[in-house]
Amino acid sequence: MNYRIHILSASLVALFLIKLFFLDEPILILTIFYILAIFGGILPDIDIGKSKLGKKIRPLSNILQIIFGHRGAVHSILFAFLAYLLFLSIGFEAFGIGLTAGILVHMGVDVLETKTKVLKLRIISIITEIILVSLHGLFLIFIGFN
Ligand SMILES: [Zn+2]
Repeated sequence: MNYRIHILSASLVALFLIKLFFLDEPILILTIFYILAIFGGILPDIDIGKSKLGKKIRPLSNILQIIFGHRGAVHSILFAFLAYLLFLSIGFEAFGIGLTAGILVHMGVDVLETKTKVLKLRIISIITEIILVSLHGLFLIFIGFN
């Protein structure tokens, strides 16, 4: 999957979650929440050595791919829930929600890709990126953070 679509999707969902639930939090908390959500958006592909993230930590990603297979354990609701529990256990529930939201968005986009196959087409992928970037613009213009 095109990692840019994962990042853009996670970013858009993170912005909506911030708008809906976390606006009263300090800007530092919101920034970490946002970064973790985007990281969650690419984290599940850690189980494939040729992914953007997998390339950066190649020995680990190859081991995960051999043990769990691509779209195995780290593409599961259990993994997302464990990510949430990790942050909850150290007292940062909001960060766990951000990371988990990103992971779940990633899994949703992967389902769209595997069910429809259309995102495998380069032109559809580019159009999807343009739509997601446009939605960011619409969010900032019409919904914003006030
Ligand atoms: Zn994936």
